[in-house]
Amino acid sequence: MVQTQSSKPTEKKILEDDLEYQLGNPKWMKKSKSLWRKILNWLVTIGLFFLATVAFFVIFGFPVQKMAFKENENVTSLCYQPSALVSSTNEPFLETQDVSCSDFINTAQFHNESLERYQKVLRVPTISYDNLGHVGEDERWNIFGDLHDVFRDIYPNIFNKLQVEYVATYGLLITYKGSNKDLKPLVLMAHQDVVPIAEATLDKWYFPPFSATYKDGLVYGRGATDDKNSLVGIFEALELLASSDFTPERTVIASIGFDEEISGYHSALPLAKRLYERYGQDGVELILDEGGFVTEYYGTYFAAVSVAEKGYMDVVLNLKTPGGHSSIPPPHTNIGIMSKLIPQVENPFEGTLVLENPFFSSLECFAKYSEDLDEHIRSSILKKDTEALTKILSKDKDTRYFFETSIAVDVIRGGVKVNALPEETVVNVNHRISVEKNLHQLYDHYEQLVGKFAKENHLNLTNFNGAQIVSYPDAIGDFSLSTIKTLEPSPVSPYGYGASTYEKLGGAIKHTFGNETLIAPALMTANTDTRHYWNLTKSIFRWTPVSPKAVSETNDFNAHTVNENMPYRGHIDAITFYYNFIRHYD
Ligand SMILES: [Zn+2]
Repeated sequence: MVQTQSSKPTEKKILEDDLEYQLGNPKWMKKSKSLWRKILNWLVTIGLFFLATVAFFVIFGFPVQKMAFKENENVTSLCYQPSALVSSTNEPFLETQDVSCSDFINTAQFHNESLERYQKVLRVPTISYDNLGHVGEDERWNIFGDLHDVFRDIYPNIFNKLQVEYVATYGLLITYKGSNKDLKPLVLMAHQDVVPIAEATLDKWYFPPFSATYKDGLVYGRGATDDKNSLVGIFEALELLASSDFTPERTVIASIGFDEEISGYHSALPLAKRLYERYGQDGVELILDEGGFVTEYYGTYFAAVSVAEKGYMDVVLNLKTPGGHSSIPPPHTNIGIMSKLIPQVENPFEGTLVLENPFFSSLECFAKYSEDLDEHIRSSILKKDTEALTKILSKDKDTRYFFETSIAVDVIRGGVKVNALPEETVVNVNHRISVEKNLHQLYDHYEQLVGKFAKENHLNLTNFNGAQIVSYPDAIGDFSLSTIKTLEPSPVSPYGYGASTYEKLGGAIKHTFGNETLIAPALMTANTDTRHYWNLTKSIFRWTPVSPKAVSETNDFNAHTVNENMPYRGHIDAITFYYNFIRHYD
């Protein structure tokens, strides 16, 4: 394939040169007959070479199928690639040194100092726990104050020159005011909290998890990937620009929460509210939060920009039956009854891949660019044969949940003593809801499933609304359905050709990491803090700025597990990306 592609430009170039001779130099053309003969000979030689090349491929074969889809017009419109944003000519200069910001990012001095700042941030153990109380009441939040002390120390220009607001105590809302009030602001997001370290895994860490040790090009530490690299990347870019003569045309905002790992209700929610009060419905140009990386799909790297998130629901199944001495038990305790229901709950949903699902757009990118993609899958994508694709991709755990609502029975609690009948059994089931489905359909599903089960087992049933929908005067127990957290699937942000915010984001990625970096729209199966920001803009993107090179430098980022790490290159990537994004967006 590479050979054919390179033979084509050569052929074209010669024809163009030829045209130039004819059109551009008429006097020269008349100079001599022998020269004409030379040109004729030359053309004949090229013609023969061309015919020989064609004959070679006809005789010895060629991956014709792959060629065919590259040449096909329908296919060339697939997986639209925005063009790289163009650099502005006048780069801002630092106030203290005679050097432009973009040149300074590439100096050893900046690299060393920036590594130290990144390490200082990683050394503060800003852990969020599932059972944290309110800020101000639960002392475990106080550590975020220590992190702010570090921020104020290492980013003096942000805190002195930009507007910094503390929202809900530890949330940070940083506003870099733009010169043009008519332009909606850009919002960059990252979170300060990290997940806890499991006690039992401590000895598996190469270095203590909050030591931020730098070794062989990698920075090790909890939060190195999720999400302190993006956090520090945003701060470094803002600090650099704030220490120069730069004023953005469009206001740039950093909205920094502190409880993303426990769903953002303490910080992302109030931060989003503050922004809504200030800018209103659709008052923001674009939001960029953590999300997909540059990921390898079927042999090719893509910057997977998430344009939507699946929905979320935690269902609580609760069964209460009378207790008593376990020497005279009923045929089934509530544990036994509940255990009959669990396999029914785990019965998979039939997911169907629909064309509106952003995952189908990801597939189109793989069909166009991934050389290792199975040819049957490739042709099904190109034919938009969603039925065939559903069949094939639902067999693979890595692909099926992009179009199927997941079911995970994660918690079960029942009984307290071995000689006492259990009075209550509780089961928690986690779902990630397919992007084209909704919460209501899942409520209906449970009411039907558990309704039938309640009747078969002579149980009363209270549904999600608190209404009793099955009842017996002599019921053997009380079943109830409720939820802990729910979230509808997110709206799908506009993407592809003509979606200007997507084009500019893709353009900034290409500007930073090279025009050859492929951009693919993607769907996230998990949720980010952006769940609280939907009314601020239609353009919400989730992407973590790390280059393919950095990705190749670590075996695994190990986010949320032992030896979480970030290649140092990935650290500089994040800074450079955010810097370019802010500088060149307009
Ligand atoms: Zn995160």
